[in-house]
This record gives sequence, structure tokens and C-alpha cells, in this order.
Amino acid sequence: MNSNNNIDKNLLNQINKRRTFAIISHPDAGKTTLTEKLLLFGGAIQQAGAVKSRKVAKAATSDFMSIEQERGISVSSSVMKFTYQGYEINLLDTPGHKDFSEDTYRVLTAVDCAVMIIDNAKGVEPQTQKLMEVCRMRNTPIITFINKLDREGMEPLDLFEDIEDKLQIECVPLTWPIGMGKRFKGVYNLEKKELGIFSPGYTPKNNDGVIIDDLSDCRLDELISESQAEQLRESVELICGASDPFDMGLYLNGTQTPVFFGSAINNFGVKEMLDTFVKIAPQPGVRSTATRDVEPHENAFSGFTFKIQANMDPEHRDRIAFFRICSGKFTKGMKVKHHRIGKEIKISNATIFMAQERNNIEEAYPGDIIGIHNHGTIKIGDTFTTKEPLKFLGIPNFAPEHFRRVILKDPMKAKALQKGLTQLSEEGTIQVFRPLLGNMHIIGAVGVLQFDVTMARLKAEYNVNAGYETIDLSVARWVTCEDETILKDFKRKNESSLTMDSEDWLTFLTTSEYQLGFVMEEWPQIQFHKTREHN
Ligand code: GDP
Repeated sequence: MNSNNNIDKNLLNQINKRRTFAIISHPDAGKTTLTEKLLLFGGAIQQAGAVKSRKVAKAATSDFMSIEQERGISVSSSVMKFTYQGYEINLLDTPGHKDFSEDTYRVLTAVDCAVMIIDNAKGVEPQTQKLMEVCRMRNTPIITFINKLDREGMEPLDLFEDIEDKLQIECVPLTWPIGMGKRFKGVYNLEKKELGIFSPGYTPKNNDGVIIDDLSDCRLDELISESQAEQLRESVELICGASDPFDMGLYLNGTQTPVFFGSAINNFGVKEMLDTFVKIAPQPGVRSTATRDVEPHENAFSGFTFKIQANMDPEHRDRIAFFRICSGKFTKGMKVKHHRIGKEIKISNATIFMAQERNNIEEAYPGDIIGIHNHGTIKIGDTFTTKEPLKFLGIPNFAPEHFRRVILKDPMKAKALQKGLTQLSEEGTIQVFRPLLGNMHIIGAVGVLQFDVTMARLKAEYNVNAGYETIDLSVARWVTCEDETILKDFKRKNESSLTMDSEDWLTFLTTSEYQLGFVMEEWPQIQFHKTREHN
């Protein structure tokens, strides 16, 4: 590790200005729209409409290969890099809808903070709740953007109650909305004491805001009508008295979230959020490994793979490993140690993703995501360093929620099937379970689209003709126990529900949470884990 007097100043500088985040939201809350506005502010795209929502084209086709080819074209949106006020910002995409997969969860292990979008009419929705659960694992700080104020929705305080109830995070408003729907007049910035006036389709400029230090100022009545001015005065008095002030420490440990209101499609309230984001989103920080904590400003390069994307280019069978840099500086052509396979590899063609294009890069720093070409030797969770062997923690497998039984149509292809399933599970496409009894393959996934992806890839890449059928399972837990005798007993009595996963971890599969609860009660010494680290 560095001693204090040989810290590389440039490295420190680069770390200070990096912000790496993801947007978490339920489909249709406005993630694509907000992403586009952020990229416009960052100058990464020049016009609206450049970030295509991929779901329309996708829903129209059930053909996997065309889905994948489409993804090949639009994949540059997996990681988007833009600059704003001198900050280098990495925005990682979290796919939604049918695309929703374990990758979506795992992306959140590679970010330092998240922006949560809530649709003001819908409040907290299921996918947001799931993504939030993952953010909780690392106490990721969350900034909240309540969207679609140009439409009727829930009252702000009811939204806060909903968020606090369902997500167990305290809301602290930094802006406050004035009306909604047809009566939406704008937001009042509680910190700057500045009024931003809403006009549909018009993006407010830096000096557009009207400073209203004292809400009793009668200019307020002229600007937003008497009745709405009165309402704003009452609301602000109420929230100032009732809610705790913003506390950096509580926000950084994920117990408090600053809240902004706006309308992404009208580019309203977005700039306020982005200006605060660059100030309070944490820079890349310390990361834990199995042996020690790694500081980002250590000179030795290190990082981990959190996602593998196949078929990026339909012409070639290339795969790209998405790699988060945790410490040191990356330079083109540098040699790193791939510790799991004990080899040195040269990274000569790392890619960095801009909004619309892929560029070869010369250098990159902690917080950056680089894409490394991969010919099947890189697994999820793999760590590369230029120094000692390390194993970053917190890039787990997540318990699947959907299960299928694989049916091999050509019995001669059993070996190829095995190989294909193993590799696909190493890439995080699906998880594979072998029951202790019998010899079928059970595959599990977080999102059901993965089953079709698996079958299409088995055919295209391994020449295996396979299908799947439903199976009455919906819950998986990895099982451990400190007491060998109890574990043995548990295995004997639950043999028909136990499987080994692709890395030989004992896994309990069952039909429902209810059933699981029943077994957990019966076996208090056994631990049932929702996630497991990679070997
Ligand atoms: P995503 O699924 O979260 O990526 O959501 P999109 O960004 O695709 O938005 C879903 C729908 O909501 C689209 O029809 C958007 O035009 C619309 N939308 C997004 N932001 C706003 C907003 O501020 N106001 C209104 N009225 N509609 C919005």
C-alpha cells in the first residue's frame, strides 16, 4: 500500500472527479427520459431522441437472435460516460422489463451511488423495491427524483410515507413542488431559496431562478397565484418543522435520501438534481477483498468483472467483460494478473463506452468501467491486479426466482450441453443446479427472458438443441451450517430438495417462501443465504 508521501497526485485528482452511479426505477417511471436529459447536460449527445428506449422493438419480437443483434447495436448504452462541471461521470444501465436479470442486480455492486426515480402517480413499485434491496447490501447512497409532476399524482407527503414505509429510508426534500398536473407551477429550492418556474418544454437556464429568501414576499403571489403561494408557505412551514435536515452522514450510509421533484420529459428539476448529485455523490471509495481493504489511490491497479455481454457484434462471437477499476491507473497494453487462472494477460484493446460509441482507451481510473475482450476465460467476479492476488467481495450470485428443467433433444449432446451450461452460468446468464437425486439439469434465473437467451445460445454457440419445461419451484437458498453433523442430518432428511450449483455450493430449492419458512423454522441451526460470493 502507499505511504502517505508517495500518493500519485494525478491519480488522486482523477479519483476526486469521478462519480459512478446507476438509475434504479420500475419500468416506465422515466429512466430512459432522465438518462437522455443527463447526457444532454453532459454534452454526450446533441439532441433529444438519441437514447432509444429498446423495449418497443423488443416487445415486438420473440426472436432471440434479433434481440441480441439489436442489443449489439444499442449496447453502448450499457455504460455511459459524460462530463459535467469538470466531473467525469459513469452512468451504468440497469435493464428493466423482460430484460431484467441478475445482471441488473450485479450492476449495482459496481456503482458508488444510485438515483432512484419514482413515478408520482404510482409511488414505490415492485422493481424499485427489489433494486433497493440490492443497494442495501452495500448501503449505497440514494438520491430520489420524483417524476412526472406535470401529471396528477399522489401528494408529496403521501409519497414520502410510501417510500419510508416500503423502502425504510428517510426522505428529506431539497426541492418542493408547487401544485401538480395542470396546476404545476414549478419547484421551490429549499436550500437556495430559489423558485424555478415551470413552463412545459422549456429547459430552465442557470440564471432563470427567482430568489425568494422570504416566502412572505408578495412577488410569490404574482408569480404563482395567491392560492398556490399560500399553499407553498404552509407546506414549507410544515416540512421544515416536521422533517429532519439533510445529513451527509445519514445519506452516505443509505438511511436518508435527498428528494427532488420534477418532470424529466420537460427537463424540469433535472438540473437541480444533477447539480446536487455532483456535489454529494461519493467519489470511488474503499472496496473490501477477502484479505484486506483496497484504497482507490493505491498505485497498484485492481478491479473486478461484474458483467459479461455476449454477442456484442453479430459478425464475431465476441464477448466483453465489464470491469470496474477499484485502484490505480489503467494504461493501454498493461499486463495484469488474472489470479483465478494464474496467468498474466495483456489488456491491449480495452474499450470505454461513450453514449453512442465505443472508443479504445489509453487510460482509465478508479470508478471507470472498461470493457475487455474475452474469449471464455473471464468469469463474473474475477479480479485482476498488477500486484498481490486479491478477491473483491460483494459481487455475488443472487438467488434465482424462476426455474426450468432442461430437456435435451439430442441425447448424443449431453457433454456439449454440460459445457454450454457451465460456461453460461460462469457468464451470469443463468444458474445451473444438479439435484442430489437424479440427473436432470435445473436452470434458474432472476428474469424469465434468460431461459430463451440460454436456449438460443446453446444452439448458436454449442450446437445443442435443447428446450425447457416448467417445474414447480420458485425459491432457492444457499445452505451452510457450522455443525457438520447437523448439516449431514439436514442433507439426509431433505435430499429431494437439495442440489449442487455450478460451483458446487449446496442449494436448497423449494416451491414457495412459505415452504421455506417452514423448513427454516424446523432447522434453526442451518443458514439459508439469498446471495453467495463467487469461488
Ligand atoms: P423507462 O421505462 O423508465 O425508461 O421510462 P421512459 O423514460 O421510457 O418513460 C416512460 C413514459 O413516461 C414515456 O412515455 C415517457 O415519455 C413518459 N415520461 C417520462 N417522463 C415524463 C414526465 O416528466 N412527464 C410525463 N407526463 N411523462 C413522462
